[in-house]
Amino acid sequence: MDIVKLYGDLTKRSINKPETALKLIKLGGLLQYTKWTKFPDKKIPKSMQYLNQLMFKYLLEPLQNPENSAFVNLFAPCEILQTFDINPMFVEAEATFLSGFYCEDVFIDAAENCGLSETLCSYHKTFIGAVEKEILPKLQFCVTSSMICDANINTFRYISNKYDIPHFVIDVPYEYSLDAEEYVKNQLIQMTEMVEDITKQKFNIDKLKEIIQRENKIKKYMNSYLENISHKYFPNHMTLEMSKLMLSHCNIGRKETYNFYKMLSEEIKTYPHKKCTSILWVHTIPYYNETLKNYFNYNEKYNFIGIDLNYDNLQPMNIDKPFNSIAKKMLTNIYNGSFEKKVNAILNIIEKTKPDCVINLCHWGCKQSSGGSNILKEALKSRNIPYLSIDGDGVDRRNTPNGQMKTRLEAFLEILDSRSD
Ligand code: SF4
Repeated sequence: MDIVKLYGDLTKRSINKPETALKLIKLGGLLQYTKWTKFPDKKIPKSMQYLNQLMFKYLLEPLQNPENSAFVNLFAPCEILQTFDINPMFVEAEATFLSGFYCEDVFIDAAENCGLSETLCSYHKTFIGAVEKEILPKLQFCVTSSMICDANINTFRYISNKYDIPHFVIDVPYEYSLDAEEYVKNQLIQMTEMVEDITKQKFNIDKLKEIIQRENKIKKYMNSYLENISHKYFPNHMTLEMSKLMLSHCNIGRKETYNFYKMLSEEIKTYPHKKCTSILWVHTIPYYNETLKNYFNYNEKYNFIGIDLNYDNLQPMNIDKPFNSIAKKMLTNIYNGSFEKKVNAILNIIEKTKPDCVINLCHWGCKQSSGGSNILKEALKSRNIPYLSIDGDGVDRRNTPNGQMKTRLEAFLEILDSRSD
């Protein structure tokens, strides 16, 4: 009996009673948090036990404290929000959380029933469906940036209208220049003033510098992990890899995030040299798929080393000019700009991690991941790196048929195995 699925069914049946559904979702998250805090799975690395705790802690914070939380996108300037102790709630995390409880289909259907296109990204549809059903609480405001994801601006405009809350959009130019940095910096200052007005708190620049200083240390640990994974086996899990997005983006700079990356970068050094096939994954993951789970979760033969999205900005930031640093970070993100820029960044990650192959997910409804697949394929082919591009969905189980996944993945792994024999 799958308890989580049963629990999800109960939540689904409450979809028209938002207060009950939200209580069930919070209780489910709390039970998982308690389980990982009090009874962690001792068979997995300590850092992964801690990551399980943090995943539920970060998910619960905005649900339990809406009066101190904001809707944000993955690339929002979270460092500034942290100075006000604002808890971020972002589309990808919440949609994945709901999908973890097998509830994504009812929210996607709810979003489509209110007029959204079937071809819109399912992360957004799940999130919008949950807002439409008023299951997600009303938070204080929305902050989004124009970069990378073309669905963000409309989703956050919709949330702002639905809940009648302030909304700030940061326009991020396509390419870096000093003028562009100044342009984004000025918007960040305006956004900070908006948050001061809403929270009735004074912005504290020293606190921001402290957060950025910690973020720089975290990036050193991330780089160290990437270098070690090139020659070490370290157990990984696809759900946890997705949950790292909460740490590597909206909660980067926090003490708990720092503790995790420090622990991870030290723990990997204690693991054996790799004798397995290592896989770098590009873009989001259908973490629920049975075939992928069998081959990649804590698997000693096929080591799932991570996703590029978790390493999209590893450059140190200038602590003395915090607003400029955040503006520069947004402008120089590997996803902001042409797809060729992303390909070069993936090649840099490959240089560090030395994977045996790359798998790319063309996520249903995501134009950037599907459109660039061939450009990535050509770049990897010229370097003789095996590449598989698969169609699927990071959230909606209905768009990732297991039979198709099994046939394609096993054929690919068979070729890799025959190469290493
Ligand atoms: S998968 Fe693509 S469309 Fe969906 S949230 Fe991510 S970037 Fe946006």
